[in-house]
Amino acid sequence: MAEREVDFLIIGGGHAGYSCARALRDGGAQGSILLVSREPDPPYDRTACSKGYLGGSTSRDAVMLRSPEWWEEQNIRLLTRTSVLKLATDERRAALSNKDTVSFGSALVATGAMVRRLRVDGGQLNGIHYLRALGNADAIRRDVEPAEDIVLIGGSYIGTEVAATLTARGKRCTIVMQEDVVLERTFGREVGRAIQDLLEARGIAIHGGEEVDAFTGDGDRVGGVRTKQGLELPAQAVVVGAGVIPDVQLARSAGLELGESGGIKVDVRLATSAPGIFAAGDVAEFESEIHPAGRLRVEHWEVAAAQGRRAAAAMRGGELPEEEIPYFFSDLHDWLSYEYIGPAKTWDQVVMNGSIDKSDFSAWYLDRGAVAAVLVAGRPEELERGRRLFGKTVDPGELTSPRARPTAA
Ligand SMILES: Cc1cc2nc3c(=O)[nH]c(=O)nc-3n(C[C@H](O)[C@H](O)[C@H](O)COP(=O)(O)OP(=O)(O)OC[C@H]3O[C@@H](n4cnc5c(N)ncnc54)[C@H](O)[C@@H]3O)c2cc1C
Repeated sequence: MAEREVDFLIIGGGHAGYSCARALRDGGAQGSILLVSREPDPPYDRTACSKGYLGGSTSRDAVMLRSPEWWEEQNIRLLTRTSVLKLATDERRAALSNKDTVSFGSALVATGAMVRRLRVDGGQLNGIHYLRALGNADAIRRDVEPAEDIVLIGGSYIGTEVAATLTARGKRCTIVMQEDVVLERTFGREVGRAIQDLLEARGIAIHGGEEVDAFTGDGDRVGGVRTKQGLELPAQAVVVGAGVIPDVQLARSAGLELGESGGIKVDVRLATSAPGIFAAGDVAEFESEIHPAGRLRVEHWEVAAAQGRRAAAAMRGGELPEEEIPYFFSDLHDWLSYEYIGPAKTWDQVVMNGSIDKSDFSAWYLDRGAVAAVLVAGRPEELERGRRLFGKTVDPGELTSPRARPTAA
């Protein structure tokens, strides 16, 4: 048990935590930095867990954000396999799982999100996986090797990406989801249908409008999935992608104010309700000066990284403006790469151009004539246009021509 004193304490070694540590040093901070991370690995690219790393085309070394030497060179103390168990905000002290206590000048809570678990019969059977970390991807890879039938629960990013990755590895994949078509909740029915057609054309079976009733199996291993609607599917491995919830366990026990989304409420400087304590990334419900929704929480890699940089400035007493409209990317193996700015909470019109199947596509989501989100595949210039026109009223007719350069009305 040791008593430590640090200038900057970073809790969580995901994208937000790493980018904060890096930005502190890049910005010239001389003080001591301690990054505490519950995971066994140093910060890595979590987005690879459902893509190249799961598929085997990207190595473990390649997904690490920095080499072990980098942390030493930067004089950033990295404690992996360690949790912050308690945060006393008034005294600015933290208690760690290795029994150390840490006094700090300022702290960043970047504890991210955790998977939403299904509470159904058979949910504890072996062979049922959730995907958040490299270790989960390793376990899935091991388990799917001998499996013939793999069932993905959920038709959002995890379900679609994992189905694409494993199908490309020669596995037979089936998606089971509550929505009628994949990705419907974010992109709507029309675009979701087009993406679903692409997945089905590559051999993925998809069942919409289904809710899991139970996982079945002989002994302690999963053998099948049954839905409330009566569908029964064989499955020797299952991956559940049923969304995530912000990991506010520590924040709640520390008495930090939470927002309507359940995330930690932060202001435009990413400051929490406790002086000297900031929050960033998937765990933060932030006040946006760019997005018309004002207050929002998103689970996007780029947002976490950008907020880490802004938090670093704020922890040093400065301020950086919000960098850009929330941005998300996804790869469905090498069949489709798409990018999205938004998120649109509501929309009443979608203007679609091109063909998803040819990876040459855009969808403009308009809310009462104003650009609420843009989804593109292979059209970077339209994404740029979307950034310029975000929140502005446009003439939908001008969005249908790829050459047109609409101006705000
Ligand atoms: C499989 C997968 C694929 C994804 N693909 C994409 C994509 O294609 N595009 C995209 O934009 N986004 C994608 N995302 C989302 C993206 O990874 C997240 O938005 C990003 O990781 C958020 O970073 P973060 O630092 O806020 O949180 P996280 O990356 O979740 O990191 C939080 C860290 O804090 C640790 N922690 C929690 N509590 C404590 C504690 N008390 N003490 C110490 N440590 C703690 C956690 O263990 C974790 O290591 C994907 C996510 C997953 C899981």
